[in-house]
Amino acid sequence: MADREELRQRIIDAIEQNREKIIEVAETIRQNPELGYQEFMASQLLATNIREQGYEVEKPAGNLETAFRASMHGRADGPIVAVLAEYDALGGIGHGCGHNLIGASGLAAAIGMKAVMPEINGIFEVIGTPAEEGGGGKIKLEAAGVFDDVDAALMIHHAGDSTGAATQWPDGTCLAVAHFDLEYFGKPAHSGGDPYNGINALNAMIKFFTGVDALRQHVHMETRLHGIITNGGEQPNVVPKYTKARFYVRCDSIEYLNEVMEKVRNVAEGAALMTGCTVKITEDNVCYDMRPNYTAGTRYTENMKEVGLELNPRHGRGMHSTDFGNISYKIPSITGSFAISHVPIPGHSQEVVDASGSEFGYDQLIKVSKAMALTAFDLMTDPDLMASAKQEHANWDAHVQAAG
Ligand SMILES: [Zn+2]
Repeated sequence: MADREELRQRIIDAIEQNREKIIEVAETIRQNPELGYQEFMASQLLATNIREQGYEVEKPAGNLETAFRASMHGRADGPIVAVLAEYDALGGIGHGCGHNLIGASGLAAAIGMKAVMPEINGIFEVIGTPAEEGGGGKIKLEAAGVFDDVDAALMIHHAGDSTGAATQWPDGTCLAVAHFDLEYFGKPAHSGGDPYNGINALNAMIKFFTGVDALRQHVHMETRLHGIITNGGEQPNVVPKYTKARFYVRCDSIEYLNEVMEKVRNVAEGAALMTGCTVKITEDNVCYDMRPNYTAGTRYTENMKEVGLELNPRHGRGMHSTDFGNISYKIPSITGSFAISHVPIPGHSQEVVDASGSEFGYDQLIKVSKAMALTAFDLMTDPDLMASAKQEHANWDAHVQAAG
C-alpha cells in the first residue's frame, strides 16, 4: 500500500479535480427543490453520478423509492464506513436547510474514496437518506436493516457561520423529538339554534393547547412543545364536530421525551374528558437526540484544519432534531458542521437557500467533503481510531456522566 499521506493526498486531489461536477450537482438540486420522499430527481442524479464512478448502486434501498445505497469494496474485507447524503427540501422555502450541499457531499466523498479503495480494506458506502425534514427517512432505513453492517457513519451539515465537528460534551448533541397528529371528534349542532346539543371539538383542541402551556412550566428547560391546528372547524355557525392538530414534543434525551409524552397524552385525554369529545393520537416517527462520537469528531476536526477550513465551532446543545440521532444510538456517528456564511443566518430560511448556492458556500462544500472523506479513510485504515470510536460509543452513558 502506498503510504497513508500519499493516499490521503489522492483523496484531496480527486475531489479538487471534480470540483465543478460536484458543485453542478449541488446547484441542480438547489434549483429543483423536492419534498421528503419525493426527491426523485435528486436521488436519481446522485445515484447516476455515483454509479458512473464505478460504485455498485442499490436503488430503491430499504423499501424507499428515493433512497439508495452505493458501495465500493476495497481489496479485502474490513470496516464498513458510510457517508449519509440528504437531499430533501422544505415546503414553501426550498433548500432552506442546505441539504443540496449534503447530497453533493455524497458524490464528493464517493469520488475521493474511489481513488484509494483499491489499496485499502473494507467497504465505503454512500447512503442516500430521504426525508430528513420530519419524515424520518433514516429511521425507516434503519428499521429495514440498511445500517446493520455499517461500522460508522459520517455527514456534513451547514451551521450558519460556524465550522467544526464536535469534540466534547455537550457539543453536537441536539433534541429528541416525537411527532404526532391529534384529532378530536365531537358532534355538530346549530351554534345559535341548539348549541346545547353539540359537542365542540374546537373547545377540546383549545384546552389541549392551554393544557400544554400549563405543562410548559414544569418541564426541563430544553423542552420544546409546539404545534399547529390544521383543522379548526368548518364555519362559526356550526359547532365544530372535528378538529385536527400536528404537534411536536422535543426533549434533551429520549428517556425524558418518553416521560413528557406521557404527560402530553394525559393532557390530550383530559381535554377530551372535559368537553365530551373522543380523542385520537397518531404518533409517527421519533427522532432520538444525537450522541456525537467525539473520537471521530476529534479526527474530523483535525482533517478540517488540514484541508484549510477555518474553525469556529459552535458550543453547547443544538436546539434542533434530526433522524441522524437514531443512527448515532446504533453506531459511531459524527457530523462535520461548516459555515456557508460569514455572518450568522437563521435556520430554515431564504438566507440559507442563498448561502447554500453562494461561491463561499460551494467552496466550503468542497473543503468539508474532503475532510469527511479523509475521516472515512482514517476510520477504515486506522484500527486504533475505529476501536476507540466504538469503545466510546459502547460506553456513552459513562462517558457523559464523566463529563458531568
Ligand atoms: Zn438539515
